[in-house]
Amino acid sequence: TNESAQHAVNHDDKLLDGLLAFGFDEASCKSRMQSHLYRKASPNKPSPYLISKLRDYEEIHRRCGPNSRTYNKSMKKIEHSKNNTSAATTCKYLIFTPANGLGNQIISLAATFLYAVLTDRVLLVKFGNDKHGLFCEPFLNSTWILPEKSPFWNEKHIETYQFLLEKDRASNSTENLPSVLFMNLQHSRNDPEKLFHCGHSQDLLQKIPLLILQSDQYFVPSMFMNPFFSMEVTKMFPEKDVTFHHLGRYLFHPSNEAWEFIISYYDTHLAKADERIGLQIRVFSPESTPTQAIMNLVLSCTLKHKILPEVSLQISVSSARKNQTKKAVLVASLSPEYGDNLRTMYLNKTTVSGEVIQVYQPSQEGHQKFNDNKHNMKAWMDMYLLSLSDVLVTTSLSTFGYVAQGLGNLKPWLLYRILSNESHFPACERDFSSEPCYHVPPSHYCSGMAMPVKEFHSTFPYFRECKDFYFGVKMV
Ligand code: GDP
Repeated sequence: TNESAQHAVNHDDKLLDGLLAFGFDEASCKSRMQSHLYRKASPNKPSPYLISKLRDYEEIHRRCGPNSRTYNKSMKKIEHSKNNTSAATTCKYLIFTPANGLGNQIISLAATFLYAVLTDRVLLVKFGNDKHGLFCEPFLNSTWILPEKSPFWNEKHIETYQFLLEKDRASNSTENLPSVLFMNLQHSRNDPEKLFHCGHSQDLLQKIPLLILQSDQYFVPSMFMNPFFSMEVTKMFPEKDVTFHHLGRYLFHPSNEAWEFIISYYDTHLAKADERIGLQIRVFSPESTPTQAIMNLVLSCTLKHKILPEVSLQISVSSARKNQTKKAVLVASLSPEYGDNLRTMYLNKTTVSGEVIQVYQPSQEGHQKFNDNKHNMKAWMDMYLLSLSDVLVTTSLSTFGYVAQGLGNLKPWLLYRILSNESHFPACERDFSSEPCYHVPPSHYCSGMAMPVKEFHSTFPYFRECKDFYFGVKMV
C-alpha cells in the first residue's frame, strides 16, 4: 500500500540510506533518528559495501567490546603478556587518544575508526570528563568508551611505534613485537617520517593485539595510499570526496542534552529563514590580528560573492514590504564582536537586495579552553548548527570548520588567513569538496625516499592539494 511505501521511505531517511544500524533505542539518542529532519537528504548515498562493512564492524564491536566476556579475557592476556605471540587473542583493539581541540579530535577519530574497520580492530576511545555527554554511543548494544578500570588509560612504559621503526630499521628483525604499542601520529614538519601508510609498517602493526593511537589529523588519505587498504577503501567509498561525510554522520550524534539545545536554537532562530548562512570566524592569533581587519575580510568575501547583501544607503522607508526574503546568519566565533558588528550593521537598515538579515551567535567563549566540558559542549553545538547551513563560510586551516562542512556535505567558502602584505590573495574562495584537509600527509615513499609534493599528485591522482594549505592533501 501507499502507506507502507511511505513508511519504508521514512525509514530510509531516518537511517540515512542504511548508513545507520536499525534497532537503536530512539529515546536514548534522539538526534540519531531526527537528524534527517534538519538536514537536506544527501545526494551521496553510502555504498552497499560500506554498509556491509559497518554492520560487520558493529558485530565485532558487540562481541569483543567492553562488557563482553571476550573483552575481559583478551585485555587480561594483553596486559600480562611480554610479547605479541603470547598475547595472541581472538579480538584486537585500537584505543584512540585525543589531542588538541574538538575539531581536531573529531576528524582524527573518524580516521581512526576507518583504520579500525580496515584492520578488524575494536575501537575504544579515551574520552575524559571534558567530553562527557557530548555524543551518543555510536555502536549498537555496546560502548566505545574505554572502561574506567582499564590499565591502558596510562601510556607510560608502553613501547612506541617510533622505537619499533628504529628497531626494525636496525636489525630488520621484529620477532619480538610487544603486545601493546603506542603510536603518536601527530606529525610535525620536523618529525621523522612515520611511514604509517606503508605496507611494511602495517604488516608489523597487524601482529600487535593492542594499538594505542594518538592523532589530531584526518589521516584517511594515508589509507588510500596503502596497498593493503586502498582496494577496500575505494570499494567502501567510491565517492572519495564524501568519506568524512559518511564517517561523521555515522559516528557523531549529539547527545540528548546537546540535541535539545541544537534543535531549540534552530527552531527559534533559523528554521523560518529562507536561507541559512553559517559564518565560522576562527582567529588563530587574536593578539596580533585586529578585529577590524577580520571584519573587513569577512565582508569583502560575503558581499563580493553575494552571500550577504550591501546595506542600502537610502533611509529606510518603512520597510513593511511584504514577502521579504529572510536570511539568518549563524556566527560561530570565540569572540562576541563579530556577531555584534554584523548585527549592528544590518539592524534597522534596508539592504540593496531588499533581503532582511538576522544575525545570531550562540556562543562567545572568549578563548579556547582545555579539559572543559561545558566549553566543548558549546563547540560541538556550534559545529553542528553550522553544519545545518545552506551556505557556509569557514576559516582556512580550521578543523572546527572542517567538521561542520563535512557533516553538512557543504563546499565552504574559505576565508584566507590575513597574511601581512599579501593583498593579492582573494578574501575567500569556494572549496572543491567537503572533505577535511590532511595537513601533514606522508612526505616519503615507502622506500624512505623523499616524496616531492608535486609528485604526490601524479602518484595518487585522486589527491589534490588543499586550497587552504599548500602542503596538505584531500581527496576528490
Ligand atoms: P581549530 O583549532 O580551528 O583547528 O579547531 P579545534 O576545534 O581543533 O580547536 C579550537 C577549539 O577552540 C574548539 O574546539 C573550541 O574549544 C574553541 N573554539 C574555536 N572556535 C570556536 C567557536 O566558534 N565556537 C566555540 N564554541 N568554540 C570555539
